[in-house]
Amino acid sequence: MTEKSEFDSPMLRTALAQLDQTASRLQLDQDIHERLRHPRRALVVSIPIRMDTGRTAVFTGYRVHHNSVLGPTKGGLRYAPDVDLPEVSALAMLMSWKCALMGLPYGGAKGGVRCDPRSLSRHELENLTRRYTAEIILLIGPDLDIPAPDMGTDEQTMAWMMDTYSMTQGRTVPGVVTGKPLIVGGSARRREATGRGIVYALYQAARRLGQELRGRRVVVQGFGNVGSVAARLLWREGCVIAGVSDIKGGIWNPNGIDIRQLEAHVAESGGVGGFPGTEAISSTDILFQPCDVLVPAAIGSVIRGDNADRIKATIVAEGANAPTTPEADVILRDRGVTVIPDILANAGGVVVSYFEWVQGLQYYFWRESEITTRLQEVMTRAFNRVWALATKEGTDLRTAALMEGVRRVAEGYRVRGLYP
Ligand code: NAD
Repeated sequence: MTEKSEFDSPMLRTALAQLDQTASRLQLDQDIHERLRHPRRALVVSIPIRMDTGRTAVFTGYRVHHNSVLGPTKGGLRYAPDVDLPEVSALAMLMSWKCALMGLPYGGAKGGVRCDPRSLSRHELENLTRRYTAEIILLIGPDLDIPAPDMGTDEQTMAWMMDTYSMTQGRTVPGVVTGKPLIVGGSARRREATGRGIVYALYQAARRLGQELRGRRVVVQGFGNVGSVAARLLWREGCVIAGVSDIKGGIWNPNGIDIRQLEAHVAESGGVGGFPGTEAISSTDILFQPCDVLVPAAIGSVIRGDNADRIKATIVAEGANAPTTPEADVILRDRGVTVIPDILANAGGVVVSYFEWVQGLQYYFWRESEITTRLQEVMTRAFNRVWALATKEGTDLRTAALMEGVRRVAEGYRVRGLYP
């Protein structure tokens, strides 16, 4: 990945800086380090669709494969107004480290379409998804690259992608995406997997710090797939969910919010705002409220050098990808805040995506209890490995997690060699 303008963005600079530091800690072979800095391939597509007004609008979409050295590539599809090529490239790189850290036979990928999904009708979203799928069709497939939901996309998006791909093949190919609805080969527990994985990681972190999760005060930024499930499961564990937010703003009650009632309110009103018994607070200010555990589960780069000293939580569990900048990482580390990094904390989604893919390839589906037990095992094993390495090397958890993820990908390159 060169530092030319089309590949320049804060998130990509962060991802490259993290890789460079990790490579130097690992004393990585220089040639392999150089290969890891560049995506294997990146496709930019124009997506013309007929809008409900009858006019044609053209959107821009991306699919980036960072590397496929350990297996087919895997990564989410994001619909958001600020998506661009460097952001998608950075997220694809993070997926490489995440899959390797979790021991999955995948390389990293990511996709995105620059749009505001909330302003599109269902019909427009379906057209957008189908045309995007058709445009990137050469890059996806069950043993090539397997998309999954991310910000702004969901099970329905995956069903449309799977159907579009299947139509071009003349047969049903469930394994081309994960995070599909159950009826077309989705896995039980996939929808809630990322939130559930965060809870398993938090449980391990609290245990290591000699704390109990029960009774901890928690703030969650973002109340979508990841944030709402994390909030619900932590609430069920006996945590006090004192603040949550979405794109329109946040709500705060230091004595706790009833998450089941809040979910009903969100289903009715479309957002967390106005929930009875809470005070309104901005989606940014919620990060700085007094709490024990902070779960950023919305967008990237929200905890930065200019605000990290205002974070009151003692544990930050990164539900979102790249919510903390490297400058903020240093400040949090110096202040003794334990950050469970994205590639570990939010890996539950890709782990259960892997389970879904395996179940689909075998046409044999597991019981819900098997899925949650295996997810807990994989999350706990990865957490323990990262904790042990951090202790041995005297580093924070992000550095240790990156060392483990990058080391595995680099080892794949080493044994496979360079073609031709
Ligand atoms: P989502 O679209 O379901 O929910 C996103 C939430 O964030 C919503 O509540 C939305 O209102 C809020 N939000 C969006 N833009 C915001 C902004 N500018 N400011 C404040 N809040 C904003 O998305 P999701 O799937 O829950 O993903 C959330 C984060 O978790 C993303 O960073 C994503 O990459 C990461 N993640 C998701 C998964 C997954 O399985 N879905 C897995 C790993 C990581």
